[in-house]
Amino acid sequence: MGEELGSTRDYEVVIVGGGPAGLSAALWLARYRRRVLLVDEGVPRNQSTWAVHGYPGLSDLPPAEVRRRMLQQTLAAGAEHREASVTGLAGRKDDFLLELSAGPAVRSRRVLLAYGQRDVLPQIEGVADLFGSSVFHCPDCDGPSLAGARVAVLGHDHGAASLALYLLTWTPHMVLLTNGQPPELPAAALATLATRNVEIRSERVLRLVPRGRFLHRVDVEHGEAINVEGLFFHLGTLPGSDLAARLGCEHDAAGHIRVDRTQESSVPGVYAAGDVTGQPYLVISAAAEGVRAALALHRSLLPPDFDLPGTEEPDGS
Ligand SMILES: Cc1cc2nc3c(=O)[nH]c(=O)nc-3n(C[C@H](O)[C@H](O)[C@H](O)COP(=O)(O)OP(=O)(O)OC[C@H]3O[C@@H](n4cnc5c(N)ncnc54)[C@H](O)[C@@H]3O)c2cc1C
Repeated sequence: MGEELGSTRDYEVVIVGGGPAGLSAALWLARYRRRVLLVDEGVPRNQSTWAVHGYPGLSDLPPAEVRRRMLQQTLAAGAEHREASVTGLAGRKDDFLLELSAGPAVRSRRVLLAYGQRDVLPQIEGVADLFGSSVFHCPDCDGPSLAGARVAVLGHDHGAASLALYLLTWTPHMVLLTNGQPPELPAAALATLATRNVEIRSERVLRLVPRGRFLHRVDVEHGEAINVEGLFFHLGTLPGSDLAARLGCEHDAAGHIRVDRTQESSVPGVYAAGDVTGQPYLVISAAAEGVRAALALHRSLLPPDFDLPGTEEPDGS
């Protein structure tokens, strides 16, 4: 369709990032017969976990297998794929230039930013090794796997206390590890934790000790070790790239790219989908945003005379 509608650029859409958001957008843009290139450097957010939970129709498949299937389907539909990092992005609507870490630069009429977020891990011995198997940040993803288990939350503030209460959805055995800090909580919050039998341990955490691949206990300074099977933390995330910031896209207070109902950012022609736009950080919502962006991108590329007088404005929904 791109040729028939008279585009002169290399691509109609270049997608930065090949996680579920980028892959879903590429699939749908290919179905619309758009010239679409997916550029992915291949470091997905969930690469350290053993399974993607909660995606209807996929029963706890490994993340790499989910991506393999999505990529296969996307390429079969006609999208192009390049393994590279997008290192530069400049230009304006209908004429963007993207520099890549490998191969020549490409031009595109539209850009979709789907480069995800990166997790900030607590700097404690054992956390990085156990991240994804028994150390987690997402209760919605991994809470159900720990039903009935003894679970710790690392943190001393309102966010950590809220996370501990939320995890009671799956298990009553909850301990809040404040890691040498006094709890930064009002008396009412402390009373709620006590009522709900959330234990508070305030010793400094020394290390997480595994048994096999899984967490076995937490060693603390000057105190008895704490036996737990899972640990959650609440530290926040950073954008997977600074491309949007360099281009001048507006961000919210948490550092997510602001988008409208069609996933378009404050920079015309630049769209964003997936974890880059904020919570919930889930594969299915990233995929859904990718599809929403693809629909809007396709509509934005239709010739003006397709917008017949007397018809309603397309809204991308
Ligand atoms: C440990 C863990 C477990 C999780 N478990 C679940 C779960 O069970 N169920 C669930 O629904 N969700 C889970 N999630 C959340 C889920 O992984 C994310 O919400 C989802 O991957 C977001 O998809 P995305 O496409 O926005 O970004 P990502 O999947 O992070 O993909 C972004 C891609 O962009 C690439 N990229 C970054 N910068 C550039 C650049 N400059 N150029 C080119 N490519 C670039 C990255 O390498 C990556 O491949 C988990 C997350 C973590 C951390």
